[in-house]
Parts: sequence; structure tokens; C-alpha cells
Amino acid sequence: MLKSVASWLASVLKGAATKLVVSGIVAAISVYSAVQWWSYAVGAALSAWRWLMAPSGVARWAVGLLIVCTLLLLIGIALACWDSLTKAKPLDWADVYEEDELYGMRMRWSNFARSIRDIHALCPKCTSECEVVYPQSYPPMSKFRCITCAHTSDEIPGVGMEALRRIEVEIRRRINSGEWKERYNLRLAQQKARRQQQQQQQ
Ligand SMILES: [Zn+2]
Repeated sequence: MLKSVASWLASVLKGAATKLVVSGIVAAISVYSAVQWWSYAVGAALSAWRWLMAPSGVARWAVGLLIVCTLLLLIGIALACWDSLTKAKPLDWADVYEEDELYGMRMRWSNFARSIRDIHALCPKCTSECEVVYPQSYPPMSKFRCITCAHTSDEIPGVGMEALRRIEVEIRRRINSGEWKERYNLRLAQQKARRQQQQQQQ
């Protein structure tokens, strides 16, 4: 099996195109030989070239092809890595959008596997945590109330899970419409302004 693969590879390698590629690589490396470091590489490439060109052939050609393929693969991987590192990744809501103003409160949540989890409210005035209250009303509804300063949210239709579901639906709507990006950028700008204000006061 290995032998037949090797002889197949050898027949492919004997083609003029492959010779051109190999000599092209050696020539490209030689261009840099003026630089001290590269002289080692050139030496290595030349001895590799001599070894590959030795008359005993078939298996060596196969190994040579493997080396060239591996080198090309490594260069390809390096280029792909470089490309992905240098190219700016588009902003993904799942990475950054975990807070927004909803029903007059600062809602926070986490995007676990792109699903909205653990929704909770923070007071926009004092950043304290909030509790859920159920005013007597029909149809039933819920409100968040700040534990510290008693600031109260707008009315959220439904109670318990139903109310949370309403909030989630609104978050999803903002994600689907692309509105989240605007809101996220606005929040960043507000945070920056607040920091600058604090620095000026100090
Ligand atoms: Zn408060």
C-alpha cells in the first residue's frame, strides 16, 4: 500500500510543474541570503535540494513532496491566522449586550449560548438591587422596586415568569432589529462621560 502510494507520488512529482515550485521556493529563500540569519536557511534548503535530487529517488521524492506540502500547509495556516488576527471582528451582541434600560430600570442578564438568562433589575438612580412587587390590578402586572431608595419601574404585564418573558421578548426584539448596537454604544459613551466627570471632580 505504502509502496504504491510512494510510486504514485513519485510519478506526480516527476512533473515539471513540481520542479518549478521547488526551485521557486529555493530561489525565493536565496534572495534573502544576504541577511546573516537566512544563510543558514539557504544552506539547509540547498542540502535538502541535493538530497532530494540524489539518484536513488522514489521514496525521497515522496518524502520531498510531503515536506513541501507540510510547508505550504503551515504557510497557509499562518496566513489564515494572521488574517483573522488583523481583520476586525464584527461586534456580536452575545459578547457585549448584557445590559439595557427597560421599563424604567437597568436590566441585566447573561447570554448563555446565545439565550437570555438570569434577568434582573438594578435601580437606575442608586444601582441597588430591586425586588418584584405585584400591585393590585387587573389585568395582573408586576413592578420592580429598588430595595434602597424605593424607585419603582414602569408596569410590566403579567406576573412571575410571564413578566420575565415580556422583558426577554423586548430584549430579543432589540437584538433582532439591530437596535441593541445603538443602545450599547450609547451606554459606552455614557460610561466614558461619567468616568471623565469623576476624574475632573477628583
Ligand atoms: Zn435606588
